[in-house]
Amino acid sequence: MGKPRVVSQFEGLEHHHQILQNPPDLKQWRQRLHDVAEPLRLTKAEFDTYFPYVSNVWSYQKKYIRKDGVEIQHWNCRMQPQTNKSIKDIGNILKDKDEKAKKTRSKKIRDGGTCKSFLRIEILLDSYTLSLTGDPHKHDLDYMDQIKRNNALRLRCEHEIWRQRQPAEILAALQGSTYMQDGRKQLTDAGGEYLKL
Ligand SMILES: [Zn+2]
Repeated sequence: MGKPRVVSQFEGLEHHHQILQNPPDLKQWRQRLHDVAEPLRLTKAEFDTYFPYVSNVWSYQKKYIRKDGVEIQHWNCRMQPQTNKSIKDIGNILKDKDEKAKKTRSKKIRDGGTCKSFLRIEILLDSYTLSLTGDPHKHDLDYMDQIKRNNALRLRCEHEIWRQRQPAEILAALQGSTYMQDGRKQLTDAGGEYLKL
């Protein structure tokens, strides 16, 4: 591994490696958090770091606190049957409530929404236990990445170090080799294979 080559238009980014650099083993973590093939126990730090990278897979539903103090959260796979309608329809439903959502959502997505995968998260103090309920996913993680960007990636794109930059510059910096030698691979590992301007 050589030293990353810094080009002039990205001056200042050298102090923000973490924005461009994925957390360790991100690809494996994302796969694990998509599959949940067996119960996973995460620390809060691990959960906070990696779970936002699968926000395009899991959709929060509800939570309650058990008598023993354990918080139970229920999440649905985003490919649930009830979401099998165009986002424009949803936009119309939200018309007066959320004008912004309506404007930004126009693509028809989630066809074939037949996945019956559910996620249960038990939280006690610093321990997060994730387990799958229902069926395994009927799609892969790559498919979900095509449909929706994850929140962690979105936040990285929106971070303040980018504020003065053009979208093309940001994408080029994230996916190119001008700043991070393996930028394209890192972006793919982070779920940004299909990121567009
Ligand atoms: Zn699924």
